[in-house]
Amino acid sequence: MQPFAFNRAADVAQAVKLGGAASTRFIAGGTTLTDLMKLGVEHPSQVIDINRLPLAQVDTTPSGGLKIGALVRNSDLAWHLSVKQHYPVLSQALLAGASGQLRNMATTGGNLLQRTRCMYFRDNLSPCNKREPGSGCAAIGGANRTLAVFGASEQCIATNPSDMNVALMALEAQVHIQGASGARVVPIHEFFLLPGSTPQVETVLKPGELITHVELPAPVADAHSGYLKLRDRASYEFALASAAVLLRVRNGRVEQARVALGGVGTVPWRSPAAEQALVGAPASPATWQAAAEAAVRGAKAQSENGFKIELAKRCVAHQLATVAALA
Ligand code: SF4
Repeated sequence: MQPFAFNRAADVAQAVKLGGAASTRFIAGGTTLTDLMKLGVEHPSQVIDINRLPLAQVDTTPSGGLKIGALVRNSDLAWHLSVKQHYPVLSQALLAGASGQLRNMATTGGNLLQRTRCMYFRDNLSPCNKREPGSGCAAIGGANRTLAVFGASEQCIATNPSDMNVALMALEAQVHIQGASGARVVPIHEFFLLPGSTPQVETVLKPGELITHVELPAPVADAHSGYLKLRDRASYEFALASAAVLLRVRNGRVEQARVALGGVGTVPWRSPAAEQALVGAPASPATWQAAAEAAVRGAKAQSENGFKIELAKRCVAHQLATVAALA
């Protein structure tokens, strides 16, 4: 690990001020950053500890939603009573991620910024456009079994590894950001950037900007939701395919639907096509199947990951049936 300066911020204003210096990273739980620094993938010249900022609360908003501080630990959020009762898809997604120890450390803000598990990204000896822009992509034509079938570019095919982010897409969360020039709020579907020709730029965050909160809108009345994660082993593993589903079914028909996929996209992948296939249709196995087909339309396989398209389809169909049965 290379030497770096370490500072601790006392409040958000100081964090943003310190964070504006070149080659600076904020650290909270450290479950991604510390790993990557040890591997030599990340080598900031300054690390700012933000653990003392007053951002570890979950509050109810005037509109009936939740405002979740960026420092709320994944375990605390997963077991928060309001989250379990009103946003089960989020609770389930959080509990599907990592291990108990990691969830106790990992934070809401950090999870949003989780970096890919592409093996070449984590190996300094391999070409990787995300780690070293312009060096190439060892995964295209290489070991890409776990990588993306949606949103890839000729520069990068890495998946977003987070479970939480997939649930946040289905819940239409908003990300609150504080920068030196003020605060802004970004809808979650605009927060993540496709790799395009700049895979090293993963979100709309500008240098020095700090995520302060994630806001959830009020729960959708009479809707049910849930998260299904399919992976190579039952725990402590990243998704090969996952589905976050929210459905409101009334009188045997789907009134409202949200579908987001994980483990298959370069960003958490919302599927408007699947939602279109659902709304107004009878709540039936044929509808779940049609929506699942729609969800994977346009997927593009690499040399080793074609199986993910069928897996994602089955994942969506299964989870739609599961959530519909709760109605
Ligand atoms: Fe790097 Fe992306 Fe290629 Fe993986 S897929 S080697 S992260 S450029």
